[in-house]
Amino acid sequence: MSMKIALAGIGKIARDQHVPSINASADWDLAATVSRHGTVDGVEAFDDFAALLAARPDIKVVSLCLPPVPRFDYAAAALKAGRHVMLEKPPGATLSECHALAAMAREAGVSIYATWHSREAAQVAAAKAWLKGKRLYRLKVTWKEDVRRWHPGQAWIWQAGGLGVFDPGINALSILTEILPDPVHLTGATLEFPENRETPIAASLRFFHPHGGDVSAVFDWRQDGDQIWTIEAETDGGNLLLADGGAKLAIDGHWQAETHDDGNPLHGEYPRLYSRMAALVRSGDIDMDLSPMTHVADAFLLGKRVTVDPFDE
Ligand code: NAP
Repeated sequence: MSMKIALAGIGKIARDQHVPSINASADWDLAATVSRHGTVDGVEAFDDFAALLAARPDIKVVSLCLPPVPRFDYAAAALKAGRHVMLEKPPGATLSECHALAAMAREAGVSIYATWHSREAAQVAAAKAWLKGKRLYRLKVTWKEDVRRWHPGQAWIWQAGGLGVFDPGINALSILTEILPDPVHLTGATLEFPENRETPIAASLRFFHPHGGDVSAVFDWRQDGDQIWTIEAETDGGNLLLADGGAKLAIDGHWQAETHDDGNPLHGEYPRLYSRMAALVRSGDIDMDLSPMTHVADAFLLGKRVTVDPFDE
């Protein structure tokens, strides 16, 4: 039987991924939206979250697609009202508030799910299985994209708490923390801040690996031409290339199973997130893995800050 769900923050990702994934799922019935400006055709629309919680006690699950800074107040209100909560990535603006939300969910006896959509990319599970048991010599993450193309007009990503280039970079870190058999931790970083912005436009990160692997990451939002979202690994059992944000996998230069290409760059990721949320609600469990965000927080703690040219759209 399907469950009623409300979607809050009707912006780019809600329209591109959440609404189609909910509509295509037998688990869910999109029963309401909450947004100050956005609506979804044929769905009851609220412009105030408290009003939704009061008016629709029959909706037991809410999915929050707001930017990270305003998200906590919505999540806390939903949990206090006994609703299950699904969080877009990153799950909040700070680690502390995410821990607080997990505690509130435990207290209320409801589910909360910190989603990491890139972990659901087609070849991430295969990459994880291939790396298991192998000795890692080197791993390099390269996440280079054109911010003008992917985040046009989104002021919040340039404001404190908006994460800047870590907004896509945290997707890479969510894959890294999923596929590596051994946990790594940050040892150094350089963050490049445009002189007119509050968040970085580029970052390079270095990690400690418990068995001596050379693990690093480069994120850059100033990429012209080809967009690059790759993870390359050299091991004692060969080389791995995870490309297109986890959608494609090559082992020793040979591409693995062809993936379905329907023009949707996040093909399958959001349907799998909603399927997992349905399972969590049914079992009453909590999934709040904050490890990708820990690396981001460490980069802001430890990173050397460099001021670079101003960024204008
Ligand atoms: P967006 O297009 O800016 O939409 C976010 C929506 O949240 C806005 O349309 C706005 O709706 C609402 N909102 C913004 N600021 C708010 C505030 N201060 N208080 C209440 N509501 C506010 O952003 P997005 O790209 O969809 O990203 C949202 C989240 O999804 C981010 O955490 C992002 O990292 C994640 N995400 C984005 C993508 C992507 O490709 N864009 C991919 C994966 C994940 P109203 O003005 O109508 O209230």
